[in-house]
Amino acid sequence: MQMQIDILTLFPEMFSSLDHSIVGRARNSGKLTVNFHNFRDFATNKQKHVDDMPYGGGQGMLLMPQPIFDTLASFPHQNARILMMDPAGRQFDQAFAEELSKESQIVFLCGHYEGFDERIKTLVTDEVSLGDYVLTGGETAAAVMIDATVRLIPDVLGKSASHEDDSFSSGLLEYPQYTRPEVFRGLKVPEVLMSGHHENIRKWRLSESLAKTLRLRPDLLAKYELTAEESEILKRLEEESVV
Ligand code: SAM
Repeated sequence: MQMQIDILTLFPEMFSSLDHSIVGRARNSGKLTVNFHNFRDFATNKQKHVDDMPYGGGQGMLLMPQPIFDTLASFPHQNARILMMDPAGRQFDQAFAEELSKESQIVFLCGHYEGFDERIKTLVTDEVSLGDYVLTGGETAAAVMIDATVRLIPDVLGKSASHEDDSFSSGLLEYPQYTRPEVFRGLKVPEVLMSGHHENIRKWRLSESLAKTLRLRPDLLAKYELTAEESEILKRLEEESVV
């Protein structure tokens, strides 16, 4: 599967993180194409301004519709998902990343200043927020969303890594993990993980995953459909009050 990402931004240089690691490799292998479109190039005024004062007064400047409309019209994007970076939008999460990873083209609109003229919203399919805080611009938000999405494209992570057990993928937080050495500064790896007993390891991981989710993110459990085995473990955990 191949994905194309088009980024409308005033600061393409802010996306250098996409040159490295898994996303960089996906680009080099041809699984992912990333195109940058600096909408200042489409400003029609001599000074190349893309922002202006808000009607009705108020502080700050707003992005004008014309440069963004013209930039979007300059490349094919039929059937593309068009995401506006907006703190008021739907909050980005793992489920949304999974949804986006199935798309063949995604367009990111990165705002700046006080944000977008409202009419720019007529161009987009989704208004998306990274979280309940205000960033200087949409670039950092888009880079995070791209990273979380691209690693879910089939075969992008490679054979040595997987995302199925990652926190949020299953609906629970991931269980604790250990690597060598067996004892580090007096801290020992749990016996069960070295037993080679696959069924006991599976049960231990499930139990740890449930305990951690219950302790740190009980809100996730409220949305999660428990299997009979998980209900039983959870009941035991609550009885033992290990959480
Ligand atoms: N005046 C806007 C408001 O109160 O909602 C905030 C504008 S912010 C300084 C400039 C741009 O940064 C926004 O247009 C958006 O593209 C991006 N941005 C800021 N916070 C964001 C967030 N939490 N998620 C996604 N994008 C964000």
